[in-house]
Amino acid sequence: MVPLMTTPSKISQPYITRFAPSPSGRLHLGHAYSALTAYRAAKQNGGRFLLRIEDIDASRCKPEFTDGIFEDLAWLGLKWETPVRLQSEHMDDYQQALETLKDRGLLYPCFCTRKDIRAKINHTQGISGTPHHSAPERGTTGLIYPGTCRTLSPTKAAALIQKDTPHAWRLNLSAALAQIKSKAPNETELTWFDEVKGKIMTEPHLLGDVILGRKEMPTSYHLSVVIDDALQNISHIVRGMDLFEATHIHIILQRLLGLPTPVYHHHALLLDDTGERFAKSSRSATLLSMRRSGISREQIISNIGLSEGP
Ligand code: GLU
Repeated sequence: MVPLMTTPSKISQPYITRFAPSPSGRLHLGHAYSALTAYRAAKQNGGRFLLRIEDIDASRCKPEFTDGIFEDLAWLGLKWETPVRLQSEHMDDYQQALETLKDRGLLYPCFCTRKDIRAKINHTQGISGTPHHSAPERGTTGLIYPGTCRTLSPTKAAALIQKDTPHAWRLNLSAALAQIKSKAPNETELTWFDEVKGKIMTEPHLLGDVILGRKEMPTSYHLSVVIDDALQNISHIVRGMDLFEATHIHIILQRLLGLPTPVYHHHALLLDDTGERFAKSSRSATLLSMRRSGISREQIISNIGLSEGP
């Protein structure tokens, strides 16, 4: 169960960090870099290192990839605490947080398909003649929702739900910001700290009304990551720059749910020979294929610019 406090608590625990891959493919060099960076940070700070498997998406995640993660990380020389938290086993925790936010009027059902969202954005651009000026159209985590269902009448929304129309649950960001402000009127800035970039002003509009409950499950990446980091007492989040913008929304969720805000460390992304970042979708060589071709752990560690082993 998630402890829902009314005010964020101060970080008073020891250094605990984590590596939280999604088992939707085999790990590549970018993952190795991220995992080793987090692992070393834990060691250097006399802290703990946890591994968490982010497998909420049953359509993309496979148990054999989870096994592959264990195998690859052990081969790299990492050690982690057990039992490992598998997000798919904790849907109740996320559902509870989702219901709390719903009860507080901070979520609304969204019936749009990706196609509807794209069409709406194109239409708006056609009217204004220029690309969106108030908010960017795409954040690092996808299209910025144009707000179509935010103004749907409660009666219409209830009727659609009654008819089992597939729907997601989105955060009403302006309602969320207003609620945070009303609870802490003296707090003029919403900030967080990144060890690489320093004090950061929260810019949640870069992501907008994100999905917190997906059509097929009572959670999303943003919700489960925030809940788990709190439940696992993570004090320092070490992860790639690709998730830097997502942090703005994570801070908002932590404030809403009364969860502590960890210290962040977003490291630069490792690039391949062509200057592209490693990705599961591209043809980046996996650690497994590199290992099978006879490349040693030491060679991998030196290839990613980390001089000594873990
Ligand atoms: N599961 C996410 C991924 O594989 C990482 C989440 C995080 O580190 O916050 O990209």
